Amino acid sequence: MSIVSEIEKTIDAAERLNPELNSFLSIEREHALARTAFLESSADGPLRGVAIAVKDNICTKGMRTSCGSHILHNYRAQYDATAVKRLNDAGAIIVGKTNMDEFAMGSSNESSAFGAAKNPWDLTRVPGGSSGGSAVAVASGVVRVALGSETGGSVRQPASLCGIVGLKPTYGRISRYGLVAFASSLDNIGIFGQTSRDVADVLGVIAGRDEHDSTTADVEVPDYSSMLDNDLAGKTIGIPRSLFGDGLDEEVREKVLASIKNFEELGAETVDVELPYAKYGIAVYYIIATAEASSNLARFDGVRYGFRAEEAAELRKMYFKTREEGFGPEVKRRIMLGTYVLSSGYYDAYYAKAQKVRALVKRDYVEAFKKCDAILTPTSPSVAFKIGEKSDDPISMYLSDIYTVSANLAGVPGISVPCGLSAEGLPIGVQLVGNFWSEGTLLNMAHKYENAHPLDARPSVFAG
Ligand code: GLN
Repeated sequence: MSIVSEIEKTIDAAERLNPELNSFLSIEREHALARTAFLESSADGPLRGVAIAVKDNICTKGMRTSCGSHILHNYRAQYDATAVKRLNDAGAIIVGKTNMDEFAMGSSNESSAFGAAKNPWDLTRVPGGSSGGSAVAVASGVVRVALGSETGGSVRQPASLCGIVGLKPTYGRISRYGLVAFASSLDNIGIFGQTSRDVADVLGVIAGRDEHDSTTADVEVPDYSSMLDNDLAGKTIGIPRSLFGDGLDEEVREKVLASIKNFEELGAETVDVELPYAKYGIAVYYIIATAEASSNLARFDGVRYGFRAEEAAELRKMYFKTREEGFGPEVKRRIMLGTYVLSSGYYDAYYAKAQKVRALVKRDYVEAFKKCDAILTPTSPSVAFKIGEKSDDPISMYLSDIYTVSANLAGVPGISVPCGLSAEGLPIGVQLVGNFWSEGTLLNMAHKYENAHPLDARPSVFAG
């Protein structure tokens, strides 16, 4: 098929499924077809003609970039994020911007100002979050790959709940230039793929040093795709047994434990490891993430970006009214929490202490990686939950991130790969967390595993 008919097919599928799935906030037919015409006459690139969906908190020049928020509902980015620019330069074609929890705050997509995206395996369930729309766009077969973002698990958790692969790279691997900031010391761009190969191909293109983001590292970008078939013999996987206890759904435990055996059959060795501070991960994360968010979101005041409330008598009232009307309840909760933990009198007790514990969480990983190449846990404690089930209970929602937040606190990479279905036919994911800059090893392990144990089922809503 020619690039143009492939892209038309993709856009048609996106438009056809969107009323049911709500995974796209905008579908960019005109832009995509113009790009196609340009590509037909231009040189080859490694991703030439590949359709890609991009989370709506990643800037795409001239397209809406709403962050799932009313406050940016009419905001059009002035420039492309570095990741987007590199994708375009490699010949990829952005077909749309995807739904997300407002400002990436959430684990279910329900905090989007534009309604939740639906899980294509069961439309009464959440796809996970916050990058739910990107996960759904890939799981429903509309695109093979999509960009998401992670602050505490927002790529790995929805990948797990939607039965696809999701990678959060090492902090500093992919430029954050053009990713709207939530919590800058934790934020990463991540990648969803139908397979690990899809993810590897995209990572190789967008990773690496960027002069626009001083936190990107000058570390060589290996040829990830060529590492996928490496033998797993000689690789060691660490199992933190204490994390398989309370709060973990029985079916998830069973499938994830079974995957350990599968990795052994593929040649990997397993050893027990301890992550004693992991249990503080959620508490530390929700202090640091909210503190940074309260500062990052101060810029949305009705002056420079997006929505401005009308009929305010004076400037201060305009700020207040814009933020009151523009932000949803979860974002307001985070701003208040973050302001509180940073306030004088509470700063040492909360924020400063959380920073100290964060260092200990990181030290756990450094110690564990002296014994193993990757650490295996569930990605999410449960399968996809029902829409509405946790929306009135923020603490239970926050606990969905229990297995993912520590990797963000430490800055190490992690991947989620499907490892089976529940009795009800809902996907379950296994997570591998690796040492700094070991994305190649994680993709290699995930690829070997998915080839030996493919999911062998498709969601009930699927394009094609
Ligand atoms: N679910 C977590 C939160 O609500 C993580 C979000 C994310 O990774 N962006 O903050």
